[in-house]
Amino acid sequence: MKEACGVFGVYAPGKRVANLTFDGLFALQHRGQESAGMAVSDGDTVTVVKDMGLVATVFDERTLSGLQGHLAIGHTRYSTHGSSDWAGAQPVYRPVGRAGFALGHNGNLTNTRALAEKVGMLPGSIATDSDVVAELLAQSFPESEDLSTALQLVLPILEGAFSLVLMSSERLFGVRDPYGFRPLCLGRLGPADAPEGWVLASETPALSVIGATFVREIAPGELVVIDADGPTSLEVPWLREVTPRLCIFEFAYIARPDSRLYGREVHETRCRMGALLAEQAPAEADMVMGVPESGVPAAEGFARASGIPYGQGLVKNRYIGRSFIAPGQQERADAVRRKLNPLTDAIAGKRLVVVDDSIVRGTTQRSVIRMLREAGAAEVHLRISSPPWRWPCFYGIDTPSYEELLATDHTVEEMAEILGADSLAYISIENLKEAIGADGGFCDACFTGDYPTPVALAARAPVSLGRTEPVAARVHQAALPGV
Ligand code: SF4
Repeated sequence: MKEACGVFGVYAPGKRVANLTFDGLFALQHRGQESAGMAVSDGDTVTVVKDMGLVATVFDERTLSGLQGHLAIGHTRYSTHGSSDWAGAQPVYRPVGRAGFALGHNGNLTNTRALAEKVGMLPGSIATDSDVVAELLAQSFPESEDLSTALQLVLPILEGAFSLVLMSSERLFGVRDPYGFRPLCLGRLGPADAPEGWVLASETPALSVIGATFVREIAPGELVVIDADGPTSLEVPWLREVTPRLCIFEFAYIARPDSRLYGREVHETRCRMGALLAEQAPAEADMVMGVPESGVPAAEGFARASGIPYGQGLVKNRYIGRSFIAPGQQERADAVRRKLNPLTDAIAGKRLVVVDDSIVRGTTQRSVIRMLREAGAAEVHLRISSPPWRWPCFYGIDTPSYEELLATDHTVEEMAEILGADSLAYISIENLKEAIGADGGFCDACFTGDYPTPVALAARAPVSLGRTEPVAARVHQAALPGV
């Protein structure tokens, strides 16, 4: 699964902000590892540096020292829409207005084609949906006096998911779509009574790493402008009022465990997912272990609630890049082998509960279970801290087609057999929401098919939707399929 993108912005008069932006992007590296970039302004000139690769590959001391200015935005990218090449790297820059503007986007638009036609972009000339937004904004000049009026004109016609950071040469802007699919938060540099600057970031850890204090989440549908007077919210004439739908998968997998979303620390919500999973789908076992890394907090919660000791059963190679290109099934299985290795002494002879955050194609779980059995595990009971993934995401998470989603065409029992597990159980959507415990609304379309916006669904709907399958199924393991 590829994650979303990470966006960051900072306005701090009198400070050089390129290094702060580097640190902020570094904290958001988990959201995208294909390319990284930043735009910096000294009040007159906007300079953009971006390239393919990790943040620390794209920027070094020499690059950063050439980026002068007190205003910046930054971006880390995964290509969920558009090509994975330099043309798709962000920030996107357009030389209009006084010195141009730059834009960084997290999320996916669902009406890109219609918007591209509106601005006369030919299909081959569009690198990303963010390009189309930049073009819409650019074409609204000179009728728009500045970027804020351009945004007020353009934002209402965008559909889908967008958390944006933008900058002119003088001001910083943050926007969340009315559903608030992707997170965006506001932070402050310096004390509350004498602020030294303001920060926008996809996730709260990007604030704390640069010494900024969390102020609040940017509200769904909010356009905030930051300049010497501090942050100001501007009215956007949205075409319709909607209920916020933050991506529930941010809690289960995407966000860092030390992030706060809807006021909840993600790590704690993952522990509660594991605890509720233990109540909902108990297993008799000697040890609970998580699949590193996002399965680990839920495994800890499962262990605490069940009384079964927690242990580490797999070691993850920390130096392996998440952007490893693995196009085929065998390559993906090999990639799992390179990434994870079992702790044989901890596993041998034990009945294991193995907790993971999700099953997409099932490649990771199948390889992991095979590995654990080869290391001598007596039984493997797989527990998943999100519901069956049956529908593709159109809002910024790169998911495979229906055909590749394992849960689309298989019951839980069939999946357990395919994966080689003694039993398999998923958390229910109700327990997932209870574990998060927040009042805000959620998008859970990849688990329920309930898309908040119109989307171009493939003709074939998941067959298993008609089945009211048990959330847990026990399979008697005679032989490990495929070993
Ligand atoms: S479809 Fe799933 S992954 Fe996509 S935004 Fe909704 S909950 Fe998140």
